[in-house]
Amino acid sequence: MENERKRTRALRRHHLARLKARWLRRACQNPLPPSWRLAEAERQRYAAVRARTPAPCSCWMCGNPRRWGERTLAERRAAMAADDAEHALRQSLS
Ligand SMILES: [Zn+2]
Repeated sequence: MENERKRTRALRRHHLARLKARWLRRACQNPLPPSWRLAEAERQRYAAVRARTPAPCSCWMCGNPRRWGERTLAERRAAMAADDAEHALRQSLS
């Protein structure tokens, strides 16, 4: 396709650099109290990790609900639709 750009190595590197720069800006620095600041090496490492880890947590509050025994929104919706269909069928029969 012409409007679909090839996902080149250059593009991947560009986005990685962009995300690293973003997380470097967010990494604790000057305006914070001294005990909250990170050393430069720590900032670099923090930014590199965050840039490559878009979802750093998968606990029961952040993660996929199915993994934690809950039904997902799509599953609940499908169940509701099935209930509605059954209800409509019973109404039409009585
Ligand atoms: Zn979490």
